[in-house]
Amino acid sequence: MAQLETEVRFLKGIGEKKAQAFHKLGVFTLYDLISFFPRRYEDRSVYKPIALTQNGESVCIRALAADTPRLTRIRRGLDLVKLRAVDESGMVEITYFNQPYRKDSIRKGESYVFYGKVEVNGTRRSMVNPVCEQEGSEGGVTGRIMPVYRLVSGLTQRNVLQSVRQGLDSCGEQLPEILPERIRRQEQLCPARYAYENIHFPADFQALEIARRRLVFEELFTLACAFGKIRGERVREKGIRLAPVDLEQFWKSLPFSPTGAQRRSVQEALADMGSGAVMSRLVQGDVGSGKTLVAAALIWAASRNGLCSAFMAPTEILVQQHMTTLSSFLAPFGIRIGKLTGSSTAKEKRQIKEALKSGALDLIIGTHALFSADVEYANLGLVITDEQHRFGVGQRSALIGKGRRPHVLVMSATPIPRTLALILYGDLDVSIIDEMPPGRQKVDTFAVNESYRERLNGFIRRLAAEGRQVFVVCPMVEENDELPTPLKSAEEHAKELAAVFPELRIGCVHGRMKAKEKDAVMAAFVSGETDVLVSTTVIEVGVDVPNAALMIVENAERFGLSQLHQLRGRVGRGSHKSWCILVSDADGEDVRARLDILCKTCDGFEVANEDLRLRGPGDFFGSRQSGLPEMHVADLGADTQVLQRAQQAALSLLAEDPGLEQPENAALRRQVDRLFQMNADSFN
Ligand code: ADP
Ligand code: MG
Repeated sequence: MAQLETEVRFLKGIGEKKAQAFHKLGVFTLYDLISFFPRRYEDRSVYKPIALTQNGESVCIRALAADTPRLTRIRRGLDLVKLRAVDESGMVEITYFNQPYRKDSIRKGESYVFYGKVEVNGTRRSMVNPVCEQEGSEGGVTGRIMPVYRLVSGLTQRNVLQSVRQGLDSCGEQLPEILPERIRRQEQLCPARYAYENIHFPADFQALEIARRRLVFEELFTLACAFGKIRGERVREKGIRLAPVDLEQFWKSLPFSPTGAQRRSVQEALADMGSGAVMSRLVQGDVGSGKTLVAAALIWAASRNGLCSAFMAPTEILVQQHMTTLSSFLAPFGIRIGKLTGSSTAKEKRQIKEALKSGALDLIIGTHALFSADVEYANLGLVITDEQHRFGVGQRSALIGKGRRPHVLVMSATPIPRTLALILYGDLDVSIIDEMPPGRQKVDTFAVNESYRERLNGFIRRLAAEGRQVFVVCPMVEENDELPTPLKSAEEHAKELAAVFPELRIGCVHGRMKAKEKDAVMAAFVSGETDVLVSTTVIEVGVDVPNAALMIVENAERFGLSQLHQLRGRVGRGSHKSWCILVSDADGEDVRARLDILCKTCDGFEVANEDLRLRGPGDFFGSRQSGLPEMHVADLGADTQVLQRAQQAALSLLAEDPGLEQPENAALRRQVDRLFQMNADSFN
């Protein structure tokens, strides 16, 4: 008898070739097969009398073949089979293209079910290539909701359908119940057998919904258990225990008071670091929410404990800026700070490496150069990475491998709804800075097209005359980029602006410049030596110029909403009223709708939610290395409520059985292990 582990090639009708096609779909065993869910469904459950069918409607009709089908050869490679079919209400003309066998398979005087799209022309009704079968035939494909599967060449819908049917019939009873009985009842979810049967062959739409709800829950629950289990294992992993410090000393030294959210985030992290286990925490906060200060407080606490911290940023410009900011917070305490980047000279590198090895530094700030193999740390206690999505998972683990299990803090300015953050960064604990420093001004945002160019230039002139500075961001222009709208490259645009504004000093940064050159241009802008900075998105993350009051984004349609929100966060950081102008000539309602969201709200979480809603989770997550396994049924954008409930259920179960070692959780445990095996890369 077939088992769930039986390979698909043992199914009737599946030979070596078809089995290989299944493999391409990730289907090897019968269990894989019945877990291969339909992509969508076709509603073939509605029957209508012929006379009541509407133009363009897809329906089933029960009708009698009124004549013997006629085969006509129009020309080589094109033949037609035609017949008339009737019921009590009327007649429909049926045509098959290139299906000559229909001539013999449909017999005059017999009754059939036809499913297809009806065309109505005056009083004439016709159907082209409808599905046709005798009513009540075994394994019928009419009169019900039909699953539609993703295919690869070598497989037809019918192949998959029949295989799934066989799979369910032969081992549907063996399907393990992954959900603990208590949780299944509490959440009012149907049993596994019912769910698998009805996700493939729904009795009706209600049954489909019940099946889907259970499977979505199960999928998210398994994922939450997997992440929760990793988290639990980490808690048991020993880390450097920090002695308590008097934070008030640090807070008092600042020119402003920390926000409640900053205090809370620091407290949460310090609790981790003092627990004896290793910290892995994500601090998530909108642009300008003051993440750097949170980092500074933790670096301070680590240094009080005689530990060195490493702060990693994705670009040289940001390294420089963090150097300046962190020094201002930390230097008064005598904290010794060093910098290491790809552009450091050989001599600088040697000195820094020696200092790190001998424990002569309390803080090292740098790019990923910090974690090249030849850098050794005497007493590394804390690793902080800024703008995490720029670093691959691999880099994250390389840096964690340094030293004796240092604590890890990841900072991200990509707002993600909390429930999603829990899943997306499931192996990390999450702190959210949901409060802005006081006095932050709203950045007024407008979406305009080229016809505003003159006025925009006038605006730049006026602001510059008031002493303000202006950011202009252009999209990255790639070679072979064929687009309807001409794209502005940063260099060309800077030249144009120089011609328009001879009186202004204009700087330009783009990706092809050397790090040193970039830094110089950037530094000139930060210090106010230039008025306008034209750039590609190198300034997207983190750069802080309080005097800048205007952000212009050219070809705004080319950027993601969250990215635009990040860019906008570069202004409005000082005391000046600030603006963001999104320039786009792309017409198209979706572009307008997207840009309008930014004009309406300044809340990064709201922007992210809308972005998610408009683009769907695939694109939203696809745009970054999500580290998330592919979902089979769950839709992370739409199923957030289930996600939340699944997450809660997982946490309560893990609280009782952290290692999923109880016999009643064995099936769940196997499913979690299966998830790890299938996604070895995502979870490391
Ligand atoms: P981000 O979260 O985007 O990295 P930053 O850490 O760069 O934000 O902080 C943005 C600005 O706000 C900086 O100029 C910083 O000095 C300032 N800032 C941070 N915290 C506070 C606070 N509690 N009160 C006032 N200003 C603050
Ligand atoms: Mg920052």
